[in-house]
Amino acid sequence: MKGSSDRPPRTSGRAGPAPTSRVQHFSNPEEERFRLAAIVDSSEDAIISKNLDGIITSWNAGAERTFGYTAEEIVGQPISRLMPPEHRNDMANILGRIERGERVEHFETVRVTKSGKTIPVSLSVSPIRDGTGRIIGAAKIARDISEQKAHQAERERLFREAEEAAKVREEFLSVAGHEMRTPLTSLQFLLHTIQKRFESGQPERAVEGLVRARAQLQRLSDLTEELLDVTRIVAGRLTPELEEVDLAELARDVEEQQRESAARAGSELCIEAPSSVIGLWDRSRLEQVMTNLLSNAVKFGGGKPITIRVEADTAWATLTVRDEGIGISSSDQSRIFERFERAVSKKSYGGLGLGLWITHQIVAAHGGRIRVESDPGQGSTFRVELPWTAPRNVIA
Ligand code: ADP
Repeated sequence: MKGSSDRPPRTSGRAGPAPTSRVQHFSNPEEERFRLAAIVDSSEDAIISKNLDGIITSWNAGAERTFGYTAEEIVGQPISRLMPPEHRNDMANILGRIERGERVEHFETVRVTKSGKTIPVSLSVSPIRDGTGRIIGAAKIARDISEQKAHQAERERLFREAEEAAKVREEFLSVAGHEMRTPLTSLQFLLHTIQKRFESGQPERAVEGLVRARAQLQRLSDLTEELLDVTRIVAGRLTPELEEVDLAELARDVEEQQRESAARAGSELCIEAPSSVIGLWDRSRLEQVMTNLLSNAVKFGGGKPITIRVEADTAWATLTVRDEGIGISSSDQSRIFERFERAVSKKSYGGLGLGLWITHQIVAAHGGRIRVESDPGQGSTFRVELPWTAPRNVIA
């Protein structure tokens, strides 16, 4: 309708009564009329005219595509049929402005199609005048902006996600910094103490200090490995190196390694496993899975007993670690398997929020699955299921 504000809109042949026209004197008015009608008809946009009572007087092919009604069905009907009940005031507003001779441009609202679907549209409405210049109706271009709105919503979602990821990373850096600083500070202090003890002729006490210093070094080395694992996993370099592994024996080894730190936290470890469950797995990665689950159970287990169970049926080998500690709320249960996610405050508990993510990745790389069942205050059970397809399955 561009450039035609001072003459009536041309409409498709099916579009009801021809509007009264103020004839412009083109060299060939008839030809001009067909040309404009063709433009209206080929428009992607809905081009509709209505009289001042809001009755539809013409309807192009774009309107049919957008709203689903044919011209035969809708011409002569009130335009309010396209408006959802909560937008019925739009019409009075728009008609009021048209009667004052104003145009309405790019007004974003919603309309209802024949099938009852609500679609977002951008409307431009301009007055139609008769030969004397009196306003007798309105010409309306409605553009379906569903796609544009969907893109906008997608952009906003991506923006929110990027903002959230930036926040999580910032928090991670702060947590990682603190986690590294704690063993470093202890090491500095211990090395100073060891030196003093040697200088003052107390070699046995210096050795005690060395044992504690080694534990702090181990903590630093574990943290560094955890960070490097993130890089390996993100780079897709987590390919299990398969060999024959006895899951039951591995569980007993890890239980033994963790027994002392569990005892320090007041937790007794109990293991229930058959004598062997042999499969093709990556030994050191499964050891890492067990260590992560067990050290979490010790950390969050409230000094209560912890049970490790290994079982196998014909298709799956299962490792279960159960504690009776602080538990995890159901809203946090899926989140904790994501990178950097923690469900406790950094003041109360250390940790990078990476252990379960790494565990999940290792289990997935073996074709397995991990899940948690937990109730706050009642404890947590982490269950790892590994497909057990080794040709030489053994349950002894
Ligand atoms: P982190 O090293 O910070 O503990 P993890 O990825 O191992 O990271 O664990 C993520 C979060 O899951 C923890 O911060 C904690 O909130 C929760 N969590 C993990 N294991 C347990 C558990 N056994 N009991 C209660 N909460 C747990």
